[in-house]
Amino acid sequence: MVLAELGGSISRALARMSSATVVDENVLRECLNEIARALMQADVRFKMVCDLQANIKKSVNLEALAAGTNKRRVIETAVGKELCKMLDPGKPAFVPKKGKPNVVMFVGLQGSGKTTTCTKYAHYHQRKGFKPSLVCADTFRAGAFDQLKQNATKAKIPFYGSYVESDPVKIAVEGLEKFRQEKSDLIIIDTSGRHMQEAALFEEMRQVAEATKPDLVIFVMDGSIGQAAFDQAQAFKQSASVGAVIITKMDGHAKGGGALSAVAATKSPVIFIGTGEHIDEFDVFNVEPFVGRLLGRGDLPGLLDKMESIVPADQQSELVAKLAEGAFTLRLMYEQFQNLLKMGPMGQIFSMLPGFSSELMPKGQEKQSKEKIKRYMTIMDSMTAAELDSKNPKLMTESRILRVARGSGRRVKDVTDMLQQMGGKSAFEALVKQMGGGKDMSKMLAGMRGGA
Ligand code: GDP
Ligand code: MG
Repeated sequence: MVLAELGGSISRALARMSSATVVDENVLRECLNEIARALMQADVRFKMVCDLQANIKKSVNLEALAAGTNKRRVIETAVGKELCKMLDPGKPAFVPKKGKPNVVMFVGLQGSGKTTTCTKYAHYHQRKGFKPSLVCADTFRAGAFDQLKQNATKAKIPFYGSYVESDPVKIAVEGLEKFRQEKSDLIIIDTSGRHMQEAALFEEMRQVAEATKPDLVIFVMDGSIGQAAFDQAQAFKQSASVGAVIITKMDGHAKGGGALSAVAATKSPVIFIGTGEHIDEFDVFNVEPFVGRLLGRGDLPGLLDKMESIVPADQQSELVAKLAEGAFTLRLMYEQFQNLLKMGPMGQIFSMLPGFSSELMPKGQEKQSKEKIKRYMTIMDSMTAAELDSKNPKLMTESRILRVARGSGRRVKDVTDMLQQMGGKSAFEALVKQMGGGKDMSKMLAGMRGGA
C-alpha cells in the first residue's frame, strides 16, 4: 500500500536479478539501473539516486567475493542498507510519555493535512493508553473549528475551540489550561495554515508556540509534492524549531518516495506517514521496517502494532506468550492467516507480512494477496503435525518438500517460497527474545520502539 509501486519495482528488479543464472557485473548494473529508474519515478532527486547507485557498486565487489557466497543476498543487503541511509531522517528529540502533561503543536501549510493528522495522532495515542485532547487554534479558516469538532467527536476525543474568538494565542492558552486541569496527558494544538510560506504564518506560529511552550512541534507536509519537500521542510525547520515531521497523502501518490528522501536530507525526523483520509490510515515511520516493506521483507514490528488493535484482547497474551517462548511455528502462522482472512481491510496488514509487500496495492491487488495466503494454507494443509509444530527450519528436507508439493498440488517452488518467507520469522524470534518477551503486546511494542 504505502509506496506500493516503488516497492514493487525495486523488489521486481531484485527478483529478476536472482533469476539470472550467473550474477555478474552486467546483471548487477541492469538491476541497479532499474532501481534508479524506479526511484526517479518516485521523484527522488537525481543526485541522491546517483549516490545510492555508486555506494551500492562500491560496497558490492563481485570479483572479490569468495566462491559460493550468495551474491544475490550480498546485493540485496547492500540495496537495503543504502535505501535505509537515504531515507533515514533521524529520531525525534521528544516522545510523549504517559502520565505527563505533554503538549504537542501541529504546524504546516493550509491543506497539508494538519487537522486530519491531529486527530489521527490523538487516536493513535488514545489506543496506546494516553488521554489525548485537541485544541483548535485555527481562527484563520472559516469552518476550521467545525472540522476539528467533527473529527474529535467521531474519535471520542475531548476538544476545545471557539466560534467567536479571533486570537489563536488566546484560544491555545485557554485550551491548554482547561485540559491541564482535566489531566489530559497529550494536549494537541492544531494551528492555521496559509497557502504559501508567508511571514504572517510563521509569526502566528511563533506567538502560539511562545504562549504554549510545546514539548514538540510537529510539521505536517503533503507528500505529493515530491522533492519540493526539501525546501519546505528546511523553511519550517528554521522558523518553528520543528522537532518531528509527519508526511501525509502517501497513498496513491507516485512522488511519496521523493518527499521522504527530501525530508530525510534535511535531517527532520519523520515519525508517522498518512496513508488515507480515514483515521486509521496512519503508520508509524521507522526507516528499517519501512525499507523492509519496500523490499518485500515485511515489517513484523509494524504488523504487531496493528495486530494490537485487531487481535481480540483475550487472545493477545497467548499469542505473545507463544512468540516469546520462541514457539513461532508454521501452525501459529496458519492460525494467524485464518485471523487475517477474517479481518476487514487487509491492504495495510498485507504490506507488513514478509513476502507480501511488493504486490500490495490498496484495493485492486487485495484479491491476489488473499489468494497467496490461501495457497500457503493449502500447502500447510499437506504438512504433517510434526512439520507444522517444528521449530527446526532444517526439518523440511528435499524429500519432505517434494511430498508436500505433490500432496498440495503446488509446485516445489511454491513450497520453498513459503518456507523461505516463514524463515523470516527467525529474525522476529530474535527480536522477541531480545525484548525479553513481555506479557502483553503493548509492552513488547514499547520494547521494540525503545530498541529501534
Ligand atoms: P489542514 O488544512 O492542514 O488542516 O488540512 P486538512 O486536515 O483539512 O486536510 C486537507 C485534505 O487532505 C482533506 O481533504 C483530508 O481528508 C486530506 N488528507 C489528509 N491527510 C491525508 C492522507 O494521508 N491521505 C489522503 N488521501 N488525504 C488526506
Ligand atoms: Mg486545518
